[in-house]
Amino acid sequence: MPAASRLQRVGAALALAASASAASWAAGRGGGGASPPGLEAARRRVADPAAAVPPRGAQEAALAGAARAAPLDLLVVGGGATGCGVALDAAARGLRVGLVERDDFSAGTSSRSTKMLHGGKEFDTFARVIVNAAGPFCDSVRKMADKDAPLMICPSSGVHIVLPDYYSPEGMGLIVPKTKDGRIAFLLPWLGKTVAGTTDSSTTITMLPEPREDEIQFILDAISDYLKIQVRRSDILSAWSGIRPLVTDPSAKDTGSISRDHVVLEDYLGLVTITGGKWTTYRSMAEDAVDAAIKSGRLKPTNGCVTEHLRIVGGDGWDPALFAILSQHYICMKKARNGKVIPAVMDTAVSKHLSHSYGTLAERVATIAQNENLGKRLAHGYPYLEAEVAYCAHNEYCETAVDFIARRSRLAFLDTDAARQALPRIIQILASEHKWDKARQNLELEKAKEFLETFKSYKNAQLTDGKHAGK
Ligand SMILES: Cc1cc2nc3c(=O)[nH]c(=O)nc-3n(C[C@H](O)[C@H](O)[C@H](O)COP(=O)(O)OP(=O)(O)OC[C@H]3O[C@@H](n4cnc5c(N)ncnc54)[C@H](O)[C@@H]3O)c2cc1C
Repeated sequence: MPAASRLQRVGAALALAASASAASWAAGRGGGGASPPGLEAARRRVADPAAAVPPRGAQEAALAGAARAAPLDLLVVGGGATGCGVALDAAARGLRVGLVERDDFSAGTSSRSTKMLHGGKEFDTFARVIVNAAGPFCDSVRKMADKDAPLMICPSSGVHIVLPDYYSPEGMGLIVPKTKDGRIAFLLPWLGKTVAGTTDSSTTITMLPEPREDEIQFILDAISDYLKIQVRRSDILSAWSGIRPLVTDPSAKDTGSISRDHVVLEDYLGLVTITGGKWTTYRSMAEDAVDAAIKSGRLKPTNGCVTEHLRIVGGDGWDPALFAILSQHYICMKKARNGKVIPAVMDTAVSKHLSHSYGTLAERVATIAQNENLGKRLAHGYPYLEAEVAYCAHNEYCETAVDFIARRSRLAFLDTDAARQALPRIIQILASEHKWDKARQNLELEKAKEFLETFKSYKNAQLTDGKHAGK
């Protein structure tokens, strides 16, 4: 059975874009020149405040409904930066696109650098070409086509730690070009805190990688040498690990060399693999992968590639001064000295966060914050608002508490303890949006706590050697 036929039955947990129109929800306007008609329509829908994303059931039905007689042009496996970029590029060219993700959008490596379904669903769907964008897992997808497929991924672990803001003055960073063992270490301001990390070390592939204590200690030691103040283990607010899909090209002459560039190959008929690269190169990765898929399946796009200049949702018409307008026109809820919750001016930290995260759609979040009594911060010292939970559930398929703390906000990555404390309120809002019963709410809490255990902040760490206690 050819690879494409085998992979037509990829078991996966999520269906996103079963048609060009569905996937083009993510499309904004291309920069310069006339946009293809599909993109113009998508732009109008994004701008329409009354528009809502299609229900998940409708998208699943569309994906499952692609029959042998009317297959999708392209089925993307993997909903990280690469897979979503590929789906968007293909949809913008007028192709019929589906995307399957076994966990949640960006749940893999893509959420660990600087949606979901209730697992195990099978989408008996048909597609002319499969694009394998499974990141570190792309060899396991290639092995569905050929169990003897030679491995091309060299998984490499990158560990980051987050420290209080006082370790990095605003706008300044530190790079150690050569640590004691020859690696690079860095320290940078990040979302109001300080992030420090180092380059990779080899690892095994797992969905929930955890940083080892020696890796964390290595970073602390590397930066301590350059700072006048002691960098303490007890200052670590969050620590996590991600797996970079570094790659060797099995078709290259020099198969021993590991590359940070991306590789596109069709080593099995109808299966195009795209991997390696970086977040910042997802546009060129998407373009190259879709070009290869068009060639492989002799697909007939209605227009050329517009990815290079395609602005994502909220980017079209965004102005850097938007945050000031938000502060002038919107209110948030704050606790007064007497303990009462009262309306107050939206402070700059919140308005900047909304503007940077949602772009031109920030005003929709701000409107929810003042109209629906969802205007309080979720965690002390962080700009995330209750309104964002409702907005993301209603408009962006946020279906779990983990999704909110890890990817819709970056609370888990910034401060594990603050994320844990915010969970009950986040779950309460999600429950109201999704009509969850008590059992589902309890399950969400358990799952989110388990997830947070993989982030080794000081409070989470199992420090058994006594070396760090009390520091
Ligand atoms: C610590 C660290 C720091 C980084 N820093 C930077 C940086 O500063 N700048 C930069 O540009 N890049 C950076 N990167 C690299 C960047 O994050 C990755 O290149 C990029 O996120 C990879 O995206 P991806 O979509 O290929 O893989 P992933 O995000 O891992 O997505 C693959 C998806 O496929 C899904 N999947 C797997 N198997 C299946 C299956 N059988 N069926 C359905 N779905 C499946 C997974 O669940 C996952 O969601 C960093 C990476 C790390 C680890």
